[in-house]
Amino acid sequence: MTEEQIQKNVEHVKTEIAKAASEAGRDPAEILLVAATKMNDADSVRAAIRAGVDVCGENRVQEMLEKNALGAYEGAPLHFIGHLQKNKVRQVVGLCTLIHSVDSLSLLREISKTAEKRGITQDVLLEVNIGGEESKSGFSPEEIEPALEEAAKMTAVRVRGLMAIPPICEKPEENRPFFLKMQKLFVDNCGKKYDNISMDFLSMGMSGDYAEAVRCGANMVRVGTGIFGPRNYT
Ligand SMILES: *Cc1c(COP(=O)(O)O)cnc(C)c1O
Repeated sequence: MTEEQIQKNVEHVKTEIAKAASEAGRDPAEILLVAATKMNDADSVRAAIRAGVDVCGENRVQEMLEKNALGAYEGAPLHFIGHLQKNKVRQVVGLCTLIHSVDSLSLLREISKTAEKRGITQDVLLEVNIGGEESKSGFSPEEIEPALEEAAKMTAVRVRGLMAIPPICEKPEENRPFFLKMQKLFVDNCGKKYDNISMDFLSMGMSGDYAEAVRCGANMVRVGTGIFGPRNYT
């Protein structure tokens, strides 16, 4: 993709987000566009930042470190959105301002331990396996409340909200029930008061369904293909 195409794509995505937000009676400014930058090179990432994405989100630690060494993310906060292995936690904590994909208590504990050693607080989201899929990691909706109670005892992590990747669907409308379930879970847990927890973010929606996600309450959407075009897996 040329810089010009990336710029056009970002403008288009932002317009669609704004439309969906208005339809839902929400302020478009409260919705953050996370560019899912996996498999896109440093120049493409820079072009997306210049075009006005709010955040960069990476999936793989090694790839992120390589692009970071090239200064790819200058000008935008960096988030981690992919599955995170415990042995890679120390490379992510502190570098990423938010980890979206905390899918177990043991991972959360590891993040807290690492952040504590460094004297920082790491912001995270809890990932919910909202479709109850075998193939996906994450907390079940029922596990969220007890997980928040555990998280409240950890002083070096702060839970900032929830994240979900619903099952792959043909049409964006098919994801609506999952998005609505997430919205309810989010709102229900927003009302509770825990230490070290501030339920600010609901991260859901990708290229095929971000508008639907915004209509259902998302305030972070993660868009890759819609900005950079199809990924080249060869
Ligand atoms: C790749 C990815 C996205 C973006 O997917 P697209 O369909 O290309 O927009 C969003 N979230 C996560 C966790 C991803 O891995």
